[in-house]
Amino acid sequence: MSTDMASTVSECIFCRIAKGEIPVDFVYRDESVVVIRDAAPQAPVHLLVLPVRHIVSAAEVSDPNIWTLIMGRAVETARGMGLDERGFRMVINTGEQGGQTVPHLHLHLLSGRNFSWPPG
Ligand code: AMP
Repeated sequence: MSTDMASTVSECIFCRIAKGEIPVDFVYRDESVVVIRDAAPQAPVHLLVLPVRHIVSAAEVSDPNIWTLIMGRAVETARGMGLDERGFRMVINTGEQGGQTVPHLHLHLLSGRNFSWPPG
């Protein structure tokens, strides 16, 4: 990850959201994971699932329970919203070439339209 992508926990926007320092309309929130709406939605449903704990990216995950936490929450959220009927996409952009712009691990949950493959 480049120096530009590095950020301290105190200035990390997703840390501040997850800790409730910046008011947002949470789709889901508990002590370890939150689900919020993406500020620039790329689909009719575009949610972000993020661990409260600051982890820079998927490449930095050392505790495998993180995957259960965020993927499990994403699938539960999708089911709860009935998105499983027509389908949804889960994306974790990782690092510069992976297209990650916010250096706090997050999973995009997208639904409500057809998605093409391969991704751009
Ligand atoms: P990525 O490019 O994979 O790192 O995704 C970052 C996502 O966070 C983008 O889709 C942004 O639109 C979204 N985003 C950035 N800041 C905020 C914010 N304050 N609230 C909600 N979504 C945000």
